[in-house]
Amino acid sequence: MSSYSWIERSLTTIHKANWYRQVQPISGRGGVEVNLNGTPAINFASNDYLGLAGDERLIEAAIAATREYGTGSTGSRLLSGHRPLHRQLEEAIARLKQTDDAIVFSSGYLANLGTLTALVGPRDVIFADAYNHASLRQGSLLSGATVRDYPHRDVDSLRQQLQQQRPQFRRGLIVSDGVFSMDGDLCPLPQLLDLAEEYDCMLLVDDAHGTGVLGSRGAGTVDYFKAGDRPLVQMGTLSKALGSLGGYVAGDAALIDYLRNRAPTWIYTTGLSPADTAAALAAIAIVEQEPQRREQLRQHQAYLKKKLLNILPQKSQLLPSESPILCIQVKDAAHVMASGQALREAGLFVCAVRPPTVPTSRLRITLMASHESQHLDRLGEALHSLVL
Ligand SMILES: *Cc1c(COP(=O)(O)O)cnc(C)c1O
Repeated sequence: MSSYSWIERSLTTIHKANWYRQVQPISGRGGVEVNLNGTPAINFASNDYLGLAGDERLIEAAIAATREYGTGSTGSRLLSGHRPLHRQLEEAIARLKQTDDAIVFSSGYLANLGTLTALVGPRDVIFADAYNHASLRQGSLLSGATVRDYPHRDVDSLRQQLQQQRPQFRRGLIVSDGVFSMDGDLCPLPQLLDLAEEYDCMLLVDDAHGTGVLGSRGAGTVDYFKAGDRPLVQMGTLSKALGSLGGYVAGDAALIDYLRNRAPTWIYTTGLSPADTAAALAAIAIVEQEPQRREQLRQHQAYLKKKLLNILPQKSQLLPSESPILCIQVKDAAHVMASGQALREAGLFVCAVRPPTVPTSRLRITLMASHESQHLDRLGEALHSLVL
């Protein structure tokens, strides 16, 4: 028996559970109308909420930065990988977020790993929403802190856990997605801030899906709840509404300075590429100058939500959402895969998400400002004819 034969057996188990995953090749630029596996499809599976990933201004900025600085940053930020562009981007993020400062990581995933490992260690405790993103879970494990999950958005349970557990540890950190990526609902930010204050905890909010989307200025979850004046660690990504790549943490000057000295995934990795940095910078300018994109997105959300409530056999199948992520609960993994496939055949690209990514199988629809109402109508018709 080879030492590697368990891998084949594991793959067989994955297949049997209907958990096997594959990539979906999209050719061309992305956007609303895509070519998926050689067939045209309307895209309801992208995180490009504002339609910026194919925007000429971002593309031109990326090209200009590549011509000026080359393709790679060629080193870690503290050694040879820092360019003036990186600092400009960090200042732009801090301005958007209305924080003292910001630090840019090479991805959102790395931002979470680095920040969690820098903020807490084995003598500390993390209180985590049970539906938090995988990168927060991995970062929590990596930090060595004790991790206590609380039921999704359940502030009463969190309070109980804080009462019982917090005194046994040195530092405390509450961690939550701002917009839950696989559900579309928001964290109860004001209550989390209150609890953090009451129980002497830090609070980290992952604004991957809120950045550029939520709030009157598009600054994210904090902007939505108008809670910008309270102490908080705001993490986010440049890879979703900002159409680029990279992650960030925004907050107090001391926090950011500390992360520059203590976040291993910032110190020991190559700086973000000039092209990605410049594209994100151009995207932030658009977020600030074109609020109509957010307005359009909100209109789409309301329109599709109403439509779905009309056509779903049970209204409860539509998960609560305050974001461009709308999820329809489906009974099991086999069913959700078949529904995703049927939609595909109707020319609609909707993600079928199943365990272990989420606790229950669902169709996950993401909206873009660049969708048109006829696209939403087509989706509604196709969903109507499915047995959901
Ligand atoms: C996408 C995502 C991340 C990771 O961000 P990347 O920049 O893609 O690495 C982190 N947290 C949440 C909630 C996300 O949805």
